[in-house]
Amino acid sequence: MTDPRIELADLVADVHDLLRADRERGVDHREGEQVVARPAEPDRREVAPRQPRQKPRAQRPPAAPARSRPAPQEKKAPTQAPQHQQQPAGNRHSAWGRKKAEPTFGYEHAVGAWGFSTPPPIPVGTPARAAADRLLAVRRELGACQRCGLCENRRSVVFGMGHPNADLVILGEGPGANEDREGLPFVGAAGEMLDKMLQHVLGLGRDKVYILNVVKCRPPNNRNPAPDEVAACRPFLFAQLEAIKPRVILTLGSPAVKTLLDTSRGIMSMRGAWQSWQGVPVMPTFHPAHLLRKPEDKRLTFQDLKELKSRYDHLGGLR
Ligand code: SF4
Repeated sequence: MTDPRIELADLVADVHDLLRADRERGVDHREGEQVVARPAEPDRREVAPRQPRQKPRAQRPPAAPARSRPAPQEKKAPTQAPQHQQQPAGNRHSAWGRKKAEPTFGYEHAVGAWGFSTPPPIPVGTPARAAADRLLAVRRELGACQRCGLCENRRSVVFGMGHPNADLVILGEGPGANEDREGLPFVGAAGEMLDKMLQHVLGLGRDKVYILNVVKCRPPNNRNPAPDEVAACRPFLFAQLEAIKPRVILTLGSPAVKTLLDTSRGIMSMRGAWQSWQGVPVMPTFHPAHLLRKPEDKRLTFQDLKELKSRYDHLGGLR
């Protein structure tokens, strides 16, 4: 039989240990089973280590783990979009002609699929409306394109302009400074030269044709687009042509015909002779910028355009 004095001494020791543990955990007092904590306060008293006893003691429940507050999340500073991702300036062309600048609503509206800030009404269910919808889908897919290095210095993605279902497509090589600023192809002196060629030889305005380039962004210093830049942009050129479904294509300058026909032949050996792209007749001729530098080649270009007009009229092209 155990000595009751030893049992009492053990009980007192247990209570003493419990109180000391509560003090270390910051427990102020106990109400029944509920533990009431007091504000943390460092216990500076040193507690002497207790000698181990022979009798095993009941295990007390472990102290509740201290709650840790989640770390506050860092606020991200607003980042400025790179210039080439910002919206380009609104274009200066109305539905089928030129007029003052209009408010910019975003790149898809300012430089839409057919190059006009206010697209002309095209009746639903017509081939032109279907072509316009296809072109708009290509434009949306292109977006604020960064597929090649030309995106770094451009102001505008110059997609193209004209009739979405044109019978004649005119293909240049890439935008220059004026085109980059305006967001439209063939503006400035070369554009005026092209307008004269169209009007005087073919009797067509820009509203009856579709004008576009091999690359949609301006190469620095007006250099020719590099092969990797052409390769990145070419799928969108082909998608545009497949959306428009032209009957005749006029290419202007060497990079245009080389890209379209995937050939290494130069413009001097190809101009004036009919070529073919997916069954569509292609007439290569000089770029208007070349004619500005070398006016004596206008005569050859005139011959090429006369040949084009004959084919265009024979196919019943849009007037
Ligand atoms: S040139 Fe064409 S591929 Fe390159 S960034 Fe411009 S739109 Fe994209």
